[in-house]
Amino acid sequence: MAKAKHPGHSKDVATLLTEKGYRMTPQRMMILDAIEDSDQHISAEEIHAQVVARYPNVNISTVYRTLELLKKLALVTETDLGGGRFRYHPADKGHHHHLVCQECGATIDLDESELFPLKESLLRQHKFIADLHHLAIMGRCVKCQK
Ligand SMILES: [Zn+2]
Ligand SMILES: [Zn+2]
Repeated sequence: MAKAKHPGHSKDVATLLTEKGYRMTPQRMMILDAIEDSDQHISAEEIHAQVVARYPNVNISTVYRTLELLKKLALVTETDLGGGRFRYHPADKGHHHHLVCQECGATIDLDESELFPLKESLLRQHKFIADLHHLAIMGRCVKCQK
């Protein structure tokens, strides 16, 4: 059995999964822990590498399936950082945005509040309530602007 590093949180998640008719398996627990523990955004490959260290039989498609499930349950956010680079983090840490350089791949985190003016303008101009919790904005970083 995997030892839960976040007993409180993991229990909530386990309860949630059970309520929705899913089981909290050790693999699912480990995948969730890997996401919770990473300060940066983590890729499916990085999650897989951590899980395999403990459960050598878990293949990457299990990781993808679990990520789909966690996304569906709104426990994890997925961001496309361009070029098919998908990164994950816990949904409750998802209130920020990313500037992504299309040349060198650098990413810069933005506070959620930096896009409040955009949100207000969308509401004013289009009566549209934008759900701007986690955006990746493509462009060119200062180093690549030559
Ligand atoms: Zn993010
Ligand atoms: Zn760049």
